[in-house]
Amino acid sequence: VYVAGSKQLAWVFPLILIIFYLLPAMQALGLSVMTFSALAPQLVTTLEPGQLMTTVFPMFLTMAFSYAFSSQKEVQRATLERVATKDPLTGAENRRGLGARLKTLIARNQRKPLKVSLILLDLDNFKKINDQFGHAAGDDVLVGIVNVLRQRVRSSDTIYRIGGEEFLIVADDAGKGTAHRMADDLRVLIEATRLVEGHPVTVSIGIAQLVAGEGYDSWVKRADDALYEAKRTGRNLVVHALADGTLATCEPAEA
Ligand code: GH3
Ligand code: MG
Ligand code: MG
Repeated sequence: VYVAGSKQLAWVFPLILIIFYLLPAMQALGLSVMTFSALAPQLVTTLEPGQLMTTVFPMFLTMAFSYAFSSQKEVQRATLERVATKDPLTGAENRRGLGARLKTLIARNQRKPLKVSLILLDLDNFKKINDQFGHAAGDDVLVGIVNVLRQRVRSSDTIYRIGGEEFLIVADDAGKGTAHRMADDLRVLIEATRLVEGHPVTVSIGIAQLVAGEGYDSWVKRADDALYEAKRTGRNLVVHALADGTLATCEPAEA
């Protein structure tokens, strides 16, 4: 506009749209306002008052609506992401992100051994709670369980709801000893929390620390086997799947 004259002003309109397409809404607004401010002295000195109005007003409208569309798109994107990845009842992560997360950990573990454990929890006799107190009370228990889990896990650990009343914690930087202590604390905490009036709620827990070179199926199966063993041997228990395939109920030494 400065070099070739005010006739080139038409390019400002697609430029504003392109800026909003490429940048987050707030940044795009800032850049558009800067563009406008840079042009203002030239516009004021070269355009007639009438021309000035018919140029500046559409420019403002283009900016305002581009901002409105862009911020609306950002809100919708965040909502979609939440709906796609979070369990609506408890707010825990759902299964969708779990596969990718575990595969990333397995790939990293193949380059350099990691200390990371799966803690798999399943509510004991949950059907009875639903039958005795109703489905809504059962839902409240599930929400309560996730709140208890959140109190104890570290911010780097992620809680997934992977089935109706089955939860998985991916505990980063937790060897088998750390994971076992975390799981046992959770078991005790859940048993001590009054999630339904007059009825104890307990969980059975299976743990598996990722072994060097281990694949997805084996890792998840070991956690599942440990959980199954906790159910089989009485519930309200923590069972650990060791690297050699054996199962242990006592706290294993840290790797
Ligand atoms: P076990 O100790 O062997 O795990 O027994 P269980 O009764 O917990 O296990 P089972 O798998 O037989 O029952 C799980 C129940 O969880 C059945 C189903 O009605 C209930 N359930 C699954 N999803 C939900 C949910 O979102 N809300 C409620 N209230 N109940 C659910
Ligand atoms: Mg159950
Ligand atoms: Mg279950």
